[in-house]
Amino acid sequence: MDTAERVLAYGGGWLDRAGPLRTDPARVEALLAEPTTVVLPMWRDRCLVDGDGPVRLSADRASLVRSAAGEIVFLGLDGDVAVFAADLSALPERSAAEMAGAARAVDVRALVGRLEPGDAAVQAYARGLLHWHRQQRFCGTCGASTVAGGGGHLRTCTGGECGRLLFPRIEPAIIVLVEAPGSPGRCLLARHAGAPEDAFSTLAGFVEVGESLEDAVRREMAEEAGVTVTDVTYQGSQAWPFPAGLMVGFRATATSDEVRVDGEELLEARWFTRAELRERVTSGRSLGRVDAIDHRLLEDWLAGMS
Ligand SMILES: [Zn+2]
Repeated sequence: MDTAERVLAYGGGWLDRAGPLRTDPARVEALLAEPTTVVLPMWRDRCLVDGDGPVRLSADRASLVRSAAGEIVFLGLDGDVAVFAADLSALPERSAAEMAGAARAVDVRALVGRLEPGDAAVQAYARGLLHWHRQQRFCGTCGASTVAGGGGHLRTCTGGECGRLLFPRIEPAIIVLVEAPGSPGRCLLARHAGAPEDAFSTLAGFVEVGESLEDAVRREMAEEAGVTVTDVTYQGSQAWPFPAGLMVGFRATATSDEVRVDGEELLEARWFTRAELRERVTSGRSLGRVDAIDHRLLEDWLAGMS
């Protein structure tokens, strides 16, 4: 089974996103009033949690939250149950928690190991969508205010002449496991600026305007590590709404052993054999971020031959 077929953290959510329903505002409003409807409250990119995890509000408490929510967005359907997310960011944290019947606000990334994978995916989805709304309150073209529509999946400029539609934007980034040419097998890991002394991870970067994903892989590896790569192959992708990312994983092969870091984004980069990586794991050092696709890329590579 390849990386793309296995669910990474923040993927595999249990919701039917029910996109066609978004275009019917009366239907969305009716769903919000259903007694079975669930509302997930969020506060400034964080889940509101009690002792059992993220709070799920039923209709009676949800009506209270509605009065204070910046936006309420339709996430989708869980069977017949409509699921919404409500943004309580305008309140102080304590007030938001009290209103939701929660104990505190916690980032989903701090909860991911304890949540069911599908729950983590839905919380991350809610986080990303509500974040986008808070960042798009004004039109970038004419400066007029914008209002939410489409069940919370678009915003419309209120400027009469303009009326531009704004849709949530995803910012793709590539993350790459670069292998050395020849044998024994070695992969390139780097120490990033700001990272601890012995923290090595795979190389990554944002896709620029006018680039394909493969172009971005080749450019980033050359810019950051002075490495020319070929055989760029897709490994899988990961939702990364922190706040708007999509991580796209690749493997690539370097044309030579030579490495020359840029000294800005990367402070050091070097080749590791599988034995060296295994020794790092044995001595308690993690392989990348455990909730992220770089961990998976490294695990897959370690499981490989040679
Ligand atoms: Zn406008």
